[in-house]
Amino acid sequence: MNKPLSPARWANDITVILKTVFGAERFPVRVKDVAREISSQKFPDDPITLIKGDSLPRFEGALVPAPLGKKGWGIIYNSDISSTGRINFTLAHEFGHYLLHRVDHPQGIQCSSEDMASWESEYGQLEHQANVFAANLLMPFDDFRSQIDAKAIPDIDQIGACADRYEVSLIAATLRWLQYTQRRSMLVISRDGFILWARSSEPALKTGLYFRTRNQPPIEISSSSLAAQRGEIDGHSGRAEHDPGIWLNEPCTEQVLFSDQYDFTISLLHFGDSSTRFELDTEPVEDVVDKFSR
Ligand SMILES: [Zn+2]
Repeated sequence: MNKPLSPARWANDITVILKTVFGAERFPVRVKDVAREISSQKFPDDPITLIKGDSLPRFEGALVPAPLGKKGWGIIYNSDISSTGRINFTLAHEFGHYLLHRVDHPQGIQCSSEDMASWESEYGQLEHQANVFAANLLMPFDDFRSQIDAKAIPDIDQIGACADRYEVSLIAATLRWLQYTQRRSMLVISRDGFILWARSSEPALKTGLYFRTRNQPPIEISSSSLAAQRGEIDGHSGRAEHDPGIWLNEPCTEQVLFSDQYDFTISLLHFGDSSTRFELDTEPVEDVVDKFSR
């Protein structure tokens, strides 16, 4: 047996094939077709033979072995979920489990959002790897950079256009953009005036701009932030320039989006250029975000 490929390597190898076959027309990635085709070509004795939606009250999706006496695997996704972006990410995530984990988990894998809360556990690692595969497959960096330049300061609509292009949720697209942007920017997800979690770009993180939400008491957001002013804002979105002290200790631009459907608030924050700032040495802060990106 060959050395196992990493999640990013698997995604890249498949991307190369999709580029050759579909060229510029390869987005959004048709995960159902790709999973069936790739698995039957690479693993003809062990392919994915079934992909279907079902009512899975506690799970986003699952990778399940075929019944005894039959060969192959099935991918089941929760058909109660209405967001096509979330379903698409789940399909790619389960395809990742198939490529990466099926040999060690012949009984299959069931994926709930809660399971991903424990990153240190072996199970958390599996979930993380499947998410890395899905993000790389659905949103390759080279294409994303051609949509939004690494130096650009996008608004939520521009990132939303990419979410449509890749058929993923707005949050999944924003998290992906945060991984390559050269800007000091941050995504903050809040509810009822408290931060649920936040994610910073690397340049923001390195200059001390982050919220540590993991294993911490809830952080209350400033009453002057847009995120705390649901009642005052017409419609579902708004934008404001803030002085230092509203979001951390620097001025920033906040664009807010209130998601009534999911009962949380998205704030996209852009801070100023970091060229004159002293770069702090900080440890990377990891948050449990994957469940939201699904
Ligand atoms: Zn999973």
